[in-house]
Amino acid sequence: MMKSQDEKKYRAQLNEKLDALRDSIQTKKINVLENEESEGKDEGDLAEQHLNRDLLFHLSANDRRVALEVLAALERMDQGTYGRCEWCEEPIEPKRLDAVPWARMCLLCQEEQEQASKAGGVAELAEELSN
Ligand SMILES: [Zn+2]
Repeated sequence: MMKSQDEKKYRAQLNEKLDALRDSIQTKKINVLENEESEGKDEGDLAEQHLNRDLLFHLSANDRRVALEVLAALERMDQGTYGRCEWCEEPIEPKRLDAVPWARMCLLCQEEQEQASKAGGVAELAEELSN
């Protein structure tokens, strides 16, 4: 289990990243939220509700991928599985989380997966692991 002060730190970093992504949308002068808020619903709730969709809709493909990873990481935090590798279930290296707070996998698994996708997919990885 991750120390709560560490988790706080990473949560802050994740939220910062989301803010940065949101800012990048705002600099494009897209006002989707404003239009929908004029329907008279509560501003705060609506902003929450539309955050994910708007983020994803207006971001470049790469930013969208990062936004999804950040949101998934925050979800894992709520579920108490943050900081644990999704593959081998070992804790992810703190250095790695410092560099990439939304990392899903430990370095080893990440590398294995990258090699597998380069080699043409999961089938090869399964073969490799069975040897
Ligand atoms: Zn792993």
